[in-house]
Amino acid sequence: MKKVVIITGGSRGIGAATSKLLAANNYSVCVNYKSNKAMAESIVGDICNNGGQAFSFQADVSIESEVIALFKAVNNTYGSVTHLVNNAGILFQQASIADISVERFNKILTTNITSCFLCCREALKSMKEGGAIVNVSSAASRSGSPFEYIDYAASKGAIDTLTKGLSIEVATMGIRVNGVRPGFIYTEMHADGGEPNRVERLSRQIPMQRGGTPEEVANAILWLLSDEASYVTGSFIDLAGGK
Ligand code: NAP
Repeated sequence: MKKVVIITGGSRGIGAATSKLLAANNYSVCVNYKSNKAMAESIVGDICNNGGQAFSFQADVSIESEVIALFKAVNNTYGSVTHLVNNAGILFQQASIADISVERFNKILTTNITSCFLCCREALKSMKEGGAIVNVSSAASRSGSPFEYIDYAASKGAIDTLTKGLSIEVATMGIRVNGVRPGFIYTEMHADGGEPNRVERLSRQIPMQRGGTPEEVANAILWLLSDEASYVTGSFIDLAGGK
């Protein structure tokens, strides 16, 4: 089966590492991004220079019409989507509940979970037996991220629940839906939360005493998408160094 994958938020961090790893494993890759075209194109350049197949596509995956356009573009370029990685996600400045506006709360939900619902729905319109989806959740869905970002953590809890329910809905179609829950991973996302060195600060609390790399998360995503994981659905891999 030709493998065609969309990685939402594929231009940076975990999404970029996943794009490169999947391309190296014979997936035709769509590197989706929202605003940083140069980053997305540099990942695509990297993949093509290494003999892989990829193109980038700008779409805000929290917006229905843009998700539909994304799937149409992939369909026209490579054919039906066989695999999907719902990776796009954001967080904002660390804050307690009193300082979280409803606008911020809703923005987090639409970007982190509405996007996942929309992409799953569009993918399942054409995905066939053997297809697979991985949703990128977070250890925050277990911790709740108090005093930092309960909005973000709640959106990740919703991803876990959607993953579980959807995996059962599509189980008899031969399509698998799983999640990964990274802990503290070295990416630029932490700077968006106001603390670029957050992983360093918290690494003492991690049993393995270090943060994780985007590549370590990508390896788990690769496995969950692959036929090696053919009896795994509705499951989660925690990538959090024992935390
Ligand atoms: P990152 O470095 O901040 O990258 C985020 C990616 O998402 C970028 O490519 C960005 O594209 C894209 N994006 C943001 N909003 C989007 C939208 N509305 N539509 C399409 N793309 C959008 O993040 P990361 O640290 O790699 O995290 C990736 C995923 O892992 C997220 O879901 C995050 O919650 C989860 N995670 C991360 C950690 C961690 O420690 N880093 C831990 C647990 C879970 P542009 O740059 O073009 O906007």
